[in-house]
Amino acid sequence: MKSKDIKNLRQWFLSQRRDLPWREEPSPYAVWVSEVMLQQTQVAVVIPYFLRWMQRFPTIEALAKAPVEAVLKEWEGLGYYSRARNLHQGARDVMEQHAGVLPATVDELKAIKGLGDYTVGAILSFAFHQRKAAVDGNVMRVLTRYYGINENICLGKVQKKIRALAEELLPQEEPWIISEALIELGATVCMRKAKCYECPLKGECQAHIKDQTDRIPVKGAKISTTVLYRLVPVIACGDRILVRRGEPGKVMADLFQFPYFDITHADHDTSAQKELMKGALKKELSLSGVWKQELPQVKHSFTRYRACLMPHVYAVREEKVVPGFEWISLDDLRQVPFSSGHRRILSMVLEHGLPTLC
Ligand code: SF4
Repeated sequence: MKSKDIKNLRQWFLSQRRDLPWREEPSPYAVWVSEVMLQQTQVAVVIPYFLRWMQRFPTIEALAKAPVEAVLKEWEGLGYYSRARNLHQGARDVMEQHAGVLPATVDELKAIKGLGDYTVGAILSFAFHQRKAAVDGNVMRVLTRYYGINENICLGKVQKKIRALAEELLPQEEPWIISEALIELGATVCMRKAKCYECPLKGECQAHIKDQTDRIPVKGAKISTTVLYRLVPVIACGDRILVRRGEPGKVMADLFQFPYFDITHADHDTSAQKELMKGALKKELSLSGVWKQELPQVKHSFTRYRACLMPHVYAVREEKVVPGFEWISLDDLRQVPFSSGHRRILSMVLEHGLPTLC
C-alpha cells in the first residue's frame, strides 16, 4: 500500500474511530474476550455482553475458576457457544501453563484452546503492540478491493497471501494503529455495500477505480441453510419442568433445552400439531400429559440451520423418570444456560406462569 494511503488511513482512524469499551484499556485478556465475542456478532450486540463479562469474570483466573454453566449463562444469547467453551478452557490452559498471564509469542498463543490466526494477531497487535496483522473478514474485504484481488478468499492460499500483504504494509512505528484502522475501515466504510465516497483509500483502490466493489471480494459457493420444524412440549409437573442438558461434544453441549420432535413442515394447524405431539410424547418419552396452551412460534438461527419452534404447554400429575431428562423447578431454570430459541420459550413461560393440572 502506498505510504500516502497509510498516512491517510491513520489520520482517518484517529479522527473517526468508535469509542468501544475494549479499546479503553486493551489488556491482553480484554482483547482476547472482545475479539472472541466479535466473531460472527455485531459490535452493538457485543458491548453489553462484554461489559457484563468483565464484571463477572474480571481476570483470567476468575474465568478459569468459574463452572462451565456460569460461563455459558453469561454467553446466553450470543450463539456459537463453542466460543464460550473454548474461552473457558483457554483460561484454564493459561492458568496451568503460563501462571495466569497471556504469553506474547505466536507459538505459545496458538497452543491455547480456541486461539486462531486472527485472535492471536489481534492480541499481539492491540495488547502487546507488536508488528502483527489481525486479518478478519473486514480486512480481507478492504485489501482484496484495494489491491483488486479477484481470487476466492475461501481458499487457504489466498488467505495466506492476504495475511502476508497485511503484515507487509504495517509501518515500523505504531503498527497497531494501522492494524486496527484496517478492521475499522472494513466495519464502517468498506462494508458489503462500500461507502467509497468517504474512504481515505479511494484514490488508489482498484475495486473503486474499476467499479468492481460488488464483485470483490470473491467468495466460494454459499453454504445452504437447512430449515428445521420442531414441536416443543413444555411439560410441567407442579412448578417443575422436564428439560434435557446438551451432551458433551455436541453442538448444544451443557445448554438446557425442552424436549422437541422434528416434523417435516410447519403448515399444521393447532389441532394437527396437538395430534402429532400426543403420539410423540407417548412414543419418545412414554408420557401422556394434559394439553394446556399453545405458545407463539419462535424462529431462530444457529450455525447453518434456521429453526421454527412450535411450543405447547402440557401438565402431568407425576414426575416420571425419563431417561436423558431431568425435572427442574422454574426458579432453578432461571439460573441455568439455555439454548437461544428455547430460552425465548422459557421467557414466555416465566412471563405467563405455569398451568395447573386442575
Ligand atoms: S475505496 Fe471503496 S472499495 Fe476501496 S477500500 Fe475504500 S470503501 Fe473499500
